[in-house]
Amino acid sequence: MASMRYRFQGGVHPLTFKSLASDRPIKKSFIPKRVTLPLSQHIGSPAQAVVSVGMNVKVGDLIGEPSGYISSAVHASIAGKITKIAYLPTYNQARVLSVVIEAGVDEDQDFRVVTAASDVNFLSKEELLKLIRDAGVVGLGGAAFPTDVKLSPPGNKKIDTVILNGAECEPYLTCDHRLMLEKTEGILKGLGIIVKILGVRRAYIAIENNKMSAIYAMERALKLYGHKFAEWTGLGRGWTPKLAVLNEKYPQGAEKQIIKAILNRIVPAGGLPMDVGCIANNVGTAYAIYESVYLRKPLIERAITITGSCVKEPVNTWVRTGTLLSDLKDVFGGFTKEPKKVIIGGPMMGLAQYSMDIPISKGAGGVVFLTKDEIDSNEEGVCIRCGRCVDACPIGLVPTTLMYRVKKEQFQDAKSLGIAYCYECGSCAYTCPAKIPLLDYLKFGKAKIQTV
Ligand code: SF4
Ligand code: SF4
Repeated sequence: MASMRYRFQGGVHPLTFKSLASDRPIKKSFIPKRVTLPLSQHIGSPAQAVVSVGMNVKVGDLIGEPSGYISSAVHASIAGKITKIAYLPTYNQARVLSVVIEAGVDEDQDFRVVTAASDVNFLSKEELLKLIRDAGVVGLGGAAFPTDVKLSPPGNKKIDTVILNGAECEPYLTCDHRLMLEKTEGILKGLGIIVKILGVRRAYIAIENNKMSAIYAMERALKLYGHKFAEWTGLGRGWTPKLAVLNEKYPQGAEKQIIKAILNRIVPAGGLPMDVGCIANNVGTAYAIYESVYLRKPLIERAITITGSCVKEPVNTWVRTGTLLSDLKDVFGGFTKEPKKVIIGGPMMGLAQYSMDIPISKGAGGVVFLTKDEIDSNEEGVCIRCGRCVDACPIGLVPTTLMYRVKKEQFQDAKSLGIAYCYECGSCAYTCPAKIPLLDYLKFGKAKIQTV
């Protein structure tokens, strides 16, 4: 095993609660009676509807086409009739133009696979990018940035390394872990496509050392398929991706931290991984790339984890995009105790939901239910200047100072002190002994500096 244990500065070690679901194989998608598909499930301009109310659609039909360079297509995730196109709430509280599909009776709800694997190795970089774009693939690690755009860096950015991100450092979430166990070959084929498009000869598969079964699965798969990278990428023999085993630490899976940990390169404040010659993609994204190219399958479902100590049967499951939270109950069997908080994503970076009528969108990696006892309800205390938040910040900000600037409405000062670079990992708030909701202050301050 290429056992390499890398580090980055800052970070925290929250309890992971991953054992609740990590042994549960990913369940097949259940088919909801209706889906609500926001036309903006990605970073960039919303897709433009190409359907109207009353139309019938099949699974995988295009319902929204990209409306600009940074945009992404949206497809029907179930077959049925379009009953509504309206502005409806999404996981971040924004109302987004969305297409509602009601499933028809006796409709075929499977995506019909067109096997096209035989000619994949002959596809050009441009053809591969088009297939990925047409399939509406976006980053499944949470950012939901259109993948075809990410894989098309400007000519002045020389990329020499690809990182496949299997860190999954958020507590509770285990769907990426399961994907690495269950969809190993597809993930490697997806990585082969990424490498071919970028023309690099250096690739790492990065996994935290709390997922030993995934590390062994990838190690075995590299022995089995490593020689195939020559034909998958057209780059010839003599290299295969390497495993990078990372020490468990949050937020190891953040792009800047994983690049620092593996390559010892520092992405400049306000910069992108491509500025230091690197592109990082989540393992789920690699699998979606594989499906888009080998199976011509659009992104109509994704793996998520539904978990929490009050959940009767924590699960990893495929979910059709647009499935409402309220329709997921049958998948995890309900609750053993009443939940007080529901989060889409993980508890560190995810967003609390105030309604169960919220659809699962492409970037959602999980749903976490927390009980009253698990919610930190202590009142906000006074900063004791312990400096823990400063030590925890992986990008070297001083959260306590930023918090005071925001409290005093000194937004210009907060801006000069770099508040815009905070990527809301929550490490500072997690570590604060005074229970100051630093992340809330930082988010508020970031929103305010847009206007100063
Ligand atoms: S200031 Fe931002 S980036 Fe730094 S630890 Fe806090 S939330 Fe994370
Ligand atoms: S961790 Fe909390 S108490 Fe300590 S310096 Fe930061 S804000 Fe103050």
